[in-house]
Amino acid sequence: MATAPKGTKDLLPQESYKWQYIEDTAREVASLFNVSEIRTPTFEHTEVFTRGVGDTTDIVNKEMYTFLDKGERSITLKPEGTAGVARAFVENGLFNSALPVKLYYITPCFRYERPQAGRLREFHQFGVEFLGSTSPSIDAEAIVLADTFFKKLNVNGLKLHVNSIGCKTCRKEYHKALIEYYKKNEDKLCPLCKERLYKNPMRLLDCKNEECKKLAINAPKILDYICDDCREHFNSVQNYLKTAGIDFIVDAGIVRGLDYYTKTVFEFVSENIGAQGTVCGGGRYDSLIADLGGQDVAGIGFALGIERLLLLMENTGVKIGNEHAPLIYIAPMGEQEKYVAFKTVLSLREKGISAETDNMNRGIKAQFKYADKIKAQFVGVIGSEELNNGVIKIKDMKLGTEEQVKLDGVYEYLRIKKND
Ligand code: ATP
Ligand code: MG
Repeated sequence: MATAPKGTKDLLPQESYKWQYIEDTAREVASLFNVSEIRTPTFEHTEVFTRGVGDTTDIVNKEMYTFLDKGERSITLKPEGTAGVARAFVENGLFNSALPVKLYYITPCFRYERPQAGRLREFHQFGVEFLGSTSPSIDAEAIVLADTFFKKLNVNGLKLHVNSIGCKTCRKEYHKALIEYYKKNEDKLCPLCKERLYKNPMRLLDCKNEECKKLAINAPKILDYICDDCREHFNSVQNYLKTAGIDFIVDAGIVRGLDYYTKTVFEFVSENIGAQGTVCGGGRYDSLIADLGGQDVAGIGFALGIERLLLLMENTGVKIGNEHAPLIYIAPMGEQEKYVAFKTVLSLREKGISAETDNMNRGIKAQFKYADKIKAQFVGVIGSEELNNGVIKIKDMKLGTEEQVKLDGVYEYLRIKKND
């Protein structure tokens, strides 16, 4: 028997309702913030990510699912959502629409990583991208959107860490300081960091290697190097966050693992889900669109890992939506009755009531057992007596009470019960 590939997961009915709840909440919050959905392809030309995400990042260096298609084109399954959205923004001329363009997506992502709790090879992100504004208010808005989403889901225990990693100009001095610092310890670095030290020293701060992590602790801090413009922007973002009443920690350790970030970066981190504690990460990317060949358009966004969010909610005992259950199961006791049950169920469904009946030729006892398993709130029995009198016996499974209802009045009866 074939098995699912390592690092992937089947989503079965006893879990899929949780995902629907998370996704519905994401869509609801996006709509409150006037954010519209964008769907981009699951795969892109590889260069979208090498140029967009950056070729010194872990994602591009180690984690991408890249292959040649039958036309010999290099194709990559999306490891993240932003680069594809930026590509679509440029290609479809969204620059000419009313700015800022506020987009969200819910998408699978693919990264070749070592699978463990909160780390899969196919995982899912809810992400948001705001394009066309450099205003610090919109940085805050992106963060508030994520925070609102968490609050709506009753998620607790997440801490918001914010930082500024400056712009291309002020980062030059910082890079020099980092190279100076790391040069002294070059022999302790992992092979990848040795290689990228001169190309992109900030990546070393985000390396997962234990020795590199230790060295990162005492490395020079970006906030000592950012220019007046970036500092003012960062102060303003913080003022907006305070206005929104959101608690945050300024954390110079947050640099993010993708090359496209500038100025604001942030993470929502949990201590309740082990080593993979970052549930949501994001930041500003003022040169990404231009890097991909587009206009000079600023952007800010975040991506939130749905598996990690679920892990956190499960570990902290938060209720995650309601499992699907029909309102009524209709149990026919004979052949004739089956047609009546069939018809009744169809007419209830037409009117918006979730209903189920027998498709397994079960006896009445087995039907009650089944109705119990699928958690039907009511069971309606149609036997020969009911058939002759045009009625149905409806049992409330929770209360154990029973009532006889006219067949043509079942909908009205359930409608009232449902709203009780
Ligand atoms: P990490 O530091 O844990 O590797 P990252 O910096 O690579 O995370 P991002 O690229 O910022 O992660 O992705 C945003 C979010 O997507 C993460 O905060 C996390 O919730 C989720 N995520 C990233 N990689 C995975 C994965 N392999 N499996 C499950 N979720 C993931
Ligand atoms: Mg990663």
